[in-house]
Amino acid sequence: MTTLQNDLSFSQAEMQAYLQNLSQRQGLNAALKALFDWSLAVGYITPAKLNDNKRYSYHDPETGVNFKTQINIARSLYSPKPLEGKNIPKLHCPICIENQTLPGKEDLRVFQFELTPGRQFFLQLTPFPLYPYHFVLIACDRVPMIMERQSIHDLMRFITLAPGFIGCSNSDVEWAGASVLVHHHYQVFKALHLPIMEAKWIKECYGKKSDIEFGLLDFPIACCKLKTPLADMIIEKGGQIIQQWKAKDLGRNTCNLILRKIDNDYELYILFRNPDFRTPPALTPIKSEGVGIIEVAGEGIYPVPTGTDADKLWHEIEHNGLAVIKGIIEGNNPIKREQFTKRFLEIGELF
Ligand SMILES: [Zn+2]
Repeated sequence: MTTLQNDLSFSQAEMQAYLQNLSQRQGLNAALKALFDWSLAVGYITPAKLNDNKRYSYHDPETGVNFKTQINIARSLYSPKPLEGKNIPKLHCPICIENQTLPGKEDLRVFQFELTPGRQFFLQLTPFPLYPYHFVLIACDRVPMIMERQSIHDLMRFITLAPGFIGCSNSDVEWAGASVLVHHHYQVFKALHLPIMEAKWIKECYGKKSDIEFGLLDFPIACCKLKTPLADMIIEKGGQIIQQWKAKDLGRNTCNLILRKIDNDYELYILFRNPDFRTPPALTPIKSEGVGIIEVAGEGIYPVPTGTDADKLWHEIEHNGLAVIKGIIEGNNPIKREQFTKRFLEIGELF
């Protein structure tokens, strides 16, 4: 068996062999821990990257949810070095597996495995983690983002292989919670608690069948939560809800997903998205980029405020942060509150 070396002499091929063996003997979680520890040892992840982000928490008396915000200090300070040297391959996108071989990425290692029969994925740590154990799960094939039943199936498989992790998916439509559209991927986190997990079902928008609870949440963006101990039912019903929403505005309606297992139950959060609904102009000085799954789930991720208004923006985040994060989420909500009951009745027809 390959012996792990905590330095850059440990090649990608050696890492793959080592993690494959470890994963077969002790499970995927052991491989994820080993990859995280190695990345910390060689400086791909640093304590500064993990700890320096400024974090805020804001209790919302209206929904009972504790919203959060972090200012991404490490990422804001980073400016990518231009690649130097000859023969730099032109790559499909910034998350392809071939990125691992580029100059400047000497400390990046990945772990490839079969997620579902015949479908190869690889895991890599993001260089600017929002939390420890923030991995991106990426299809080895160069296929574009999907948002469908298969997405839930993939996330279910992942959290089954890596108990304690939660699986998230951005979407397949630009400006509707997409990150890298051209290459299919998920984001996975160890034991991550997101504010939306504290949201309660709206009484009039809640249903229960023998094996499953479903309904819309009291939250600033329309979100359908499903809860059941049956993995197959989550995949089936979740897939139908995504399809039903997408069919209403093809190519524009889409979803973001969060899947976790808690005690005996699976919980799936299906957040409805459409690119016509974006961050309001008054808040774009704080957040100009598109808003992804973590943010619509209640945790704002903003760059360090800069420019002449920097002091004003810091003040706004520190003293009015709850209104800022709720305002961003509300701006991205495609279904108005007064339409929730109608939407719930449509979802109910699937049960
Ligand atoms: Zn790619």
